[in-house]
Amino acid sequence: MIDKEINLSDTQTAFQYKTDSNLKISKFVFSLFKYDFLVKYGPAITSFCLKIGLPIKGLIKKTVFSQFCGGENIDECNATVDNIWKYNVGAILDYSVEGEGSEQSFEANADEIKNIISKTKGKQQYPFCVFKPSGIASISLLEKVDSGQKLEQNELDNYYKTRKRFETLCETAANNNVKLFIDAEESWIQNSVDNFANEMMRKFNTNEAVIFNTVQLYRKGRVEFITECIEDARKNKYYLGFKLVRGAYIEKEWNRAALKGYENPIHNNKFNCDTDFNNALKICFENRDIVSICAGTHNENSSLMLCNMMNEAGIDNNDKRFWFAQLYGMSDTISFNLASHGYNVAKYLPYGPIQAVMPYLGRRARENSSMAGQMGRELNAITAELKRRNL
Ligand SMILES: Cc1cc2nc3c(=O)[nH]c(=O)nc-3n(C[C@H](O)[C@H](O)[C@H](O)COP(=O)(O)OP(=O)(O)OC[C@H]3O[C@@H](n4cnc5c(N)ncnc54)[C@H](O)[C@@H]3O)c2cc1C
Repeated sequence: MIDKEINLSDTQTAFQYKTDSNLKISKFVFSLFKYDFLVKYGPAITSFCLKIGLPIKGLIKKTVFSQFCGGENIDECNATVDNIWKYNVGAILDYSVEGEGSEQSFEANADEIKNIISKTKGKQQYPFCVFKPSGIASISLLEKVDSGQKLEQNELDNYYKTRKRFETLCETAANNNVKLFIDAEESWIQNSVDNFANEMMRKFNTNEAVIFNTVQLYRKGRVEFITECIEDARKNKYYLGFKLVRGAYIEKEWNRAALKGYENPIHNNKFNCDTDFNNALKICFENRDIVSICAGTHNENSSLMLCNMMNEAGIDNNDKRFWFAQLYGMSDTISFNLASHGYNVAKYLPYGPIQAVMPYLGRRARENSSMAGQMGRELNAITAELKRRNL
């Protein structure tokens, strides 16, 4: 039975952290995504304008940037973090600068993640830290490792450096008692990431789940992967942490599989993807003596399904093994309504210099560009709240 009191249509609770003018800006931003041209070319044009010094930074910062990002650096995020924490929604600082692929940029990114860990440790409003493997490792190197190709000596050296960076981040998190998500990426590098993540969980999750791997359920065979991980964790006596997501790289996956002529690793339809996501939630839930989960989703049914399972099993809403996470600026109806019922909720809060986070903003624009999909949901909720406030 679903917890009857949860009403994800309650826009008053969902947007209580937004002032009237913030809300009007949100409506303006989501309305922009109706225009295909803006979604397609806007980020590139904006980057170009910023590069040549046109004075548009203030405008971008007050609109699209402030809708989806916390600030240009960690300190600038403080106001947003404090604001959402008033309503029991935590923040997961997400350094959204995409590295240019050099060893130097990987080191700099790893240093920034360590900086986040040290600035957020021990603070309840930051329940997790996160890093993206491609921010600290070369994709082409991981791809080579994944496909079992022999590495040249210099590649081997870089591979050892990559492993070291990976381990240092996990060790720093574990030593500071900070829970750390490892984001999931394209399927052609994910084996390497899974192997690293499993090794780190074996090493650092001895008393509880500190290191969390991410599993994308839009891929075929990932429920089986979770089952194997659970068997291994039981056998070798450690805890597992999983962030469960559907997956963000569907078109890239489709295109590469078609181009290279291998079987598409993605489910053939949304129904199968949803079924696997919900089955993964169930399996993790059934193994909750050793598995902690974060449902990283904007899907209301999946979120409510987890609430429902917890409710039926008599588990406290704020049991620390169960988390819900959404992206900042999206699906506030889920985040703030669940948090108001005492569930553990956090938002990914991207930050970085405006120019550097443009690719991230471009992805949000594309994801929100369908009236029938996410944009329709966001706009409907915002419009309803504006109406409720008589604005
Ligand atoms: C906190 C958080 C962390 C995240 N971390 C990661 C991460 O580490 N790695 C990552 O890849 N993504 C990550 N994501 C992005 C996530 O994968 C997308 O938000 C998600 O795909 C959107 O799905 P949804 O669960 O919100 O629900 P929905 O809107 O119900 O589902 C949309 C998703 O379903 C899948 N889908 C759509 N059509 C089909 C089809 N025809 N066949 C098969 N599948 C289909 C796609 O994955 C699509 O994105 C994260 C999201 C959040 C909120």
